[in-house]
Amino acid sequence: MTIVFATNNPNKIKEVQAQIPDRIKLISLEEIGCLVDIPETQDTIEGNAIQKATYIKDHFGLDCFADDTGLEVHALDGAPGVFSARYAGPQRNADDNMNLLISKLASKDNREAQFKTVIAMYYNKQLITFEGICKGEITKSKRGFDGFGYDPIFQPENYETTFAELSMADKNRIGHRGKAVAKLVTYLNTH
Ligand code: IMP
Repeated sequence: MTIVFATNNPNKIKEVQAQIPDRIKLISLEEIGCLVDIPETQDTIEGNAIQKATYIKDHFGLDCFADDTGLEVHALDGAPGVFSARYAGPQRNADDNMNLLISKLASKDNREAQFKTVIAMYYNKQLITFEGICKGEITKSKRGFDGFGYDPIFQPENYETTFAELSMADKNRIGHRGKAVAKLVTYLNTH
């Protein structure tokens, strides 16, 4: 079985590939000749995931899935949420985003946060969504070098390490995208 994973983020492809059984072959956007920046203009994480998957279904007519992720910080009323990628500006720079978040939380006692991923999949022309949530807290400084995005400042619940200090296998087991992908794999195994 082949299915398009609608992302240009090689870190995400690596993470998801590691969880998908060999019989399911992931195809990248590049491999289908989709070189555009797929629009993400909705105001919810779910809306953006559906928008990206729908773009691929409409333009290429292939089975596909897209994910969208946001980091929701309790003391900031859920920000940056759907704006996580461009929190510190349109340059979409991970260090700038982390620095801004650390400074916004400087005077806050409550550092609780959660990552939320929604995967939207078109399979046999049916739209299905899967959600994964990982709770944790924002650290006061960056720690670790693995992963991407906000990983160096996110410490998952019941762990002493940030996502950037965890192996990919551990991050996939407890992480937001890993949980959503596990639901997707279960669906594909039973349909
Ligand atoms: P998107 O889902 O690729 O649009 O990601 C939105 C924002 O969240 C970007 O700034 C990503 O770098 C960040 N992000 C997405 N997934 C993760 C993750 O697993 N760890 C850390 N940051 C992430």
